[in-house]
Amino acid sequence: MTTPQVSVVVPMYNEEPNLPELHTRLTKVLARLDTPCEIIYVDDGSTDGTPQELENLLLQPQPVCVRAVRLPRRRGKTAALSAGFAIARGSIIATTDADLQEPPEVLPMLLSRVQCGEAHLVVAWRQQRQDSRFRVLASRLFNALLRWLTGLSLHDVNCGTKAMKREVAENLGSWMVSDMHRYLPILAAQMGYRVTEAPVPHVARRRGRSRFGASRYLRAVVDLAPVSLMWWRGWGVWVALTSLSTLLAKMHSPLGWAGLAVAMAWAGTALAFWIGKR
Ligand code: UDP
Ligand code: MG
Repeated sequence: MTTPQVSVVVPMYNEEPNLPELHTRLTKVLARLDTPCEIIYVDDGSTDGTPQELENLLLQPQPVCVRAVRLPRRRGKTAALSAGFAIARGSIIATTDADLQEPPEVLPMLLSRVQCGEAHLVVAWRQQRQDSRFRVLASRLFNALLRWLTGLSLHDVNCGTKAMKREVAENLGSWMVSDMHRYLPILAAQMGYRVTEAPVPHVARRRGRSRFGASRYLRAVVDLAPVSLMWWRGWGVWVALTSLSTLLAKMHSPLGWAGLAVAMAWAGTALAFWIGKR
């Protein structure tokens, strides 16, 4: 059997209703490529019928190589992606979500942009996003903050659909904890890889529901601590916050003590993460 040149990793938590359509569309798209491909479904400890659906798929003949990994319990999207990367054999690794919000039909375009050497990592940029107004606004602000911090002109860093050279996924390995999947494109750019974006259509989730609750925002902020201090602007804000807070604290202002607490938590989280990562 030929070794796959392209691996598509799909993390899934309780995506049973989406799996049949996802699989049909994904295999159709990948079977049309000239390159040998594999799909790696990573079941993130689903509690619905996802594992049974996957078992059934694996028993049937498939037009492309299909593999599946099951995590014994839910460990989150980052861990699921990491488990997929660990067994991927392709020289290019793509990721996409199981909920079909970004059509799998966009994958050949992303793959070809990596294949032709235009970029080491291409991240999809969802056009006319079909999510709640609050989520779209939060995402716009978040991406604007990341653009300012990093100086990169990316508009949708956390889009689940991406393609990258294998080397990029390997080097991102030590960052694959917590919910760091959100920051992969900017971390890759920080490592010196060429990162670009490609506009793609977006559709509303038709089946199942979003697997992230409101805690996603808290986790995004906590994970931003070690990420932000990879850039000088992050340090600049930290130094400014600490200096201003010290000044205010000297004047016995409670704001100063609050600012100092934030600055200490920020540095402490970053330090704990960097020590744990080594
Ligand atoms: N996912 C996962 N583990 C989790 C949460 C999500 O594997 O703990 C998967 C989920 O099944 C989907 C992808 O990650 O394939 C993106 O999740 P979702 O669509 O819920 O995220 P959103 O679009 O709301 O950001
Ligand atoms: Mg989704």
